[in-house]
Amino acid sequence: MPINLLAYDPRGLADLCTSIGEKPFRARQLLRWIHQLRESDFARMTDLGTALRARLAHMAVIQPPAVMAESTASDGTRKWLLSVGTGNGIETVFIPEVSRGTLCISSQVGCALECSFCSTGRQGFNRNLTTAEIVGQLWLASKLLGDGRANAGSSRERIISNVVMMGMGEPLANFDNVVSALYIMLDDHAYGLSRRRVTVSTAGIVPNIDRLRAECPVALAVSLHAPSDELRDVLVPINRKYPLRDLMEACRRYADAMPRDEPAADDGAEEEAATTRSIPAPLAHKWKRDGAPRDFVTFEYVMLDGINDRAEHARQLVALTRDVPCKFNLIPFNPFPNSGYRRSGPKQIRAFQETLMAAGLIATLRKTRGEDIDGACGQLAGQVVDRTRRRLRREARESA
Ligand code: SAH
Repeated sequence: MPINLLAYDPRGLADLCTSIGEKPFRARQLLRWIHQLRESDFARMTDLGTALRARLAHMAVIQPPAVMAESTASDGTRKWLLSVGTGNGIETVFIPEVSRGTLCISSQVGCALECSFCSTGRQGFNRNLTTAEIVGQLWLASKLLGDGRANAGSSRERIISNVVMMGMGEPLANFDNVVSALYIMLDDHAYGLSRRRVTVSTAGIVPNIDRLRAECPVALAVSLHAPSDELRDVLVPINRKYPLRDLMEACRRYADAMPRDEPAADDGAEEEAATTRSIPAPLAHKWKRDGAPRDFVTFEYVMLDGINDRAEHARQLVALTRDVPCKFNLIPFNPFPNSGYRRSGPKQIRAFQETLMAAGLIATLRKTRGEDIDGACGQLAGQVVDRTRRRLRREARESA
């Protein structure tokens, strides 16, 4: 079996070059051919030398997942269903906006966390995606969208300027493969994305939040969704293992450690509506250290009618996150069949947002995109051959 070069992060590629008797700088050339020019034919990699080209053609391929289906929503959002073999499919979504384009990518086939309001969680779980399958989504979307040389010009000029790991799966439950993929996204010879434009979203795997901080501190979004352990245990069951107190401490450590070497961007997760405010003066002061404003963790909060959207929940959130440099991104619940939940009404959402903002927090509202193609948050179902019997158990419970 030939090896798939999409699986190799910059260090891995340098090691591979060394192991076949090539100089490590060949890895940089290869990264550019593969990820910036998206060339999959070694014969065309003209600066590599004929012998090396022939050798690579013999031992390696550049192979992204295959496209099974593609749909475009009325708002221009595009979704691809990609085959990852043995009956499994994952989804990748591209969300175009005026000044940026966000690619939402998957990290697992299905998800094992069973958050009660998430469609992916209902599908069960099959396996972790490989690094090649994770980065292959970016490779493929860049190619299909005709994105120019990835690091030519500023990221605002690129079609894909931001990547969010908010598709199917829990990225921090597939840590090593996700981090290798992140290294490729950030590398200047590959996609050259800034750390602030790559977001990992997690339901709160606390030890791996710390590992990410140490190994690859990109922007962090945490799916909070509830202000108390009692409620969060139900909505996000991983909370039973990593309760809020531990999660808040990990978020604080993360925000403390995030690099401050690049200009702050306003781009956390996906599209955010116009309500972003600058940091209120007293908080800007509180969060300034060494003269530099500190970075934020983004708390995602799905608005579920009558469940977590009352004024008292907002007040509890203010208290809970008091010591964490954070901003809130409120997500109107996106329905799917038999979810058992309803989206909070617009008035309720606005009142909730205002309570947070009155306490000095930044709270944005995520615009729903791609809903008519089931491409919005929490609607990605893909095609999952469930190996965990989660789906069967749930269905048995529901019909009992
Ligand atoms: N496992 C990661 C990525 C999940 S998807 C995580 O939990 O963060 C990204 C976001 O969509 C998460 O905040 C998730 O909780 C949210 N989400 C899931 N189902 C949703 C739904 N039906 N409507 C709105 N948001 C949803």
